[in-house]
Amino acid sequence: MKYEAVIGLEIHVELQTRSKIFCGCSTAFGAEPNTNCCPGCLGLPGTLPVLNRRAVEYAVRAALALNCRVQGKSVFARKNYFYPDLPKAYQISQNEQPLAWGGYLEVDFPTGSRRVNLQRVHLEEEAGKLIHAGDSIMSAAYSLVDYNRAGVPLLEIVTAPELHSGREARLFLEELRTLLLYTGVSDVKMEEGSLRCDANISLRPAGSAGLGIRTEVKNLNSFRAVEQALNYEAERQAAILADGGELFTATCHWDDNRKATVVMRKKEEAADYRYFPDPDLPPLILERSYIEAMREQLPELPRERRQRLRESFNLSDDEAAMLTATRELADFFEAAAESYRDYRNLVNWVQGDLVYRLRESGKRADEISPAMLVELLELLDAGEINRPVAKELLAEMVKSGVSPRKLVQQRGLGKISDQESLLPLVEQVIAENPDAVENYRKGKEKALAFLVGKVMAMTRGRADPQELNRLFREKL
Ligand code: ADP
Ligand code: ZN
Ligand code: MG
Repeated sequence: MKYEAVIGLEIHVELQTRSKIFCGCSTAFGAEPNTNCCPGCLGLPGTLPVLNRRAVEYAVRAALALNCRVQGKSVFARKNYFYPDLPKAYQISQNEQPLAWGGYLEVDFPTGSRRVNLQRVHLEEEAGKLIHAGDSIMSAAYSLVDYNRAGVPLLEIVTAPELHSGREARLFLEELRTLLLYTGVSDVKMEEGSLRCDANISLRPAGSAGLGIRTEVKNLNSFRAVEQALNYEAERQAAILADGGELFTATCHWDDNRKATVVMRKKEEAADYRYFPDPDLPPLILERSYIEAMREQLPELPRERRQRLRESFNLSDDEAAMLTATRELADFFEAAAESYRDYRNLVNWVQGDLVYRLRESGKRADEISPAMLVELLELLDAGEINRPVAKELLAEMVKSGVSPRKLVQQRGLGKISDQESLLPLVEQVIAENPDAVENYRKGKEKALAFLVGKVMAMTRGRADPQELNRLFREKL
């Protein structure tokens, strides 16, 4: 039988507020362990939570960007369980009455563009971070715990089971990441854990409607891992079914070294978290006017921007996607395009050398001046510098922030066309290449190009070829 994979994602996003969701402790990443903690985030008795206004604002903004129905009333509940990363032995989360219901994200899949529906979006607090000895939960003899992260605001986003391959899950997550970057609510870095994803996956006979028995895959630390793990897990399940075996509900761990999922625990029944409304927190009430004001303030989102740029600059889909990958890059491109009219050339430089140099130096596009790139392209267009020099200057400009014109002056990188500089080189090349000289004198025009090429190489392309041609003809 042919099977189809069915995948639903549970995504956690750390909101980039300065302080935690229920206390004033800092959320700064990378601080000395257990220094950003107070009695409140350690769960000591007698402390009371106070909701962070900014965390709510970010959550509402993200939910609106995801087309969700943001609720006028939502309720914080205690999710009770015991685990060392949870000092209070309960996590404040939202259960029966989440911040938002529904919503969707439109994604361009290889099979075409499609809406992926969401089930809900809610606010909760982060747990602490366990650091397992030897870095593997499977073999650690002990674990350390850092409560700095406990209480960082988290947004949970749950999709409907509407994705059908590892590739689709990855594309969905990448689109989600771009969207959240545009809204500015999180830095959304999978590698640093500010974007995390657990994936539920089951199989069903291709073309049928129901849902099969699922496993939940954890430890997905990169987009690539999401794709690989889900493809692996779909095949693992299919192999069991093909063998006449039976599947059971389970939690799996993705082993990124072995490139395999490992069943960690069989789920006998749903965990009972004894949810109840947190008596220390009143319901979160949001006025319609507040929600509508937040909707008004949403920036132009990636999909609209991609489309607008594609149309106004006549770009291919890939070019538009590349230029709008981040809001900063799209802003950069549009600012440069205001004063530089050769769009084709601009697109090529931005998506080629500029993006490469930004990545190399770890900078964002808003740390570079669009006017400087325009200056560089104008120097190139005017013939004051050649292409290899322009590429070199771009790298230098990104690294140091010094303007291309200044760099040309400082380093004498401009075109060489004066006779005093060129003549000695011409004479040297004539002396060193008697065969070519002879050939030229016998009427072989090609030999002249060879000689000119020699001087070009000596000057790393900076000599003016027309002037060289003239000088060689004169000398020979
Ligand atoms: P839980 O109670 O374990 O949190 P939910 O019903 O809330 O489970 O679903 C969690 C995620 O699992 C959602 O993204 C949902 O789309 C997905 N999901 C639920 N059932 C299945 C299934 N049979 N196959 C694949 N994904 C599923
Ligand atoms: Zn605190
Ligand atoms: Mg759930």
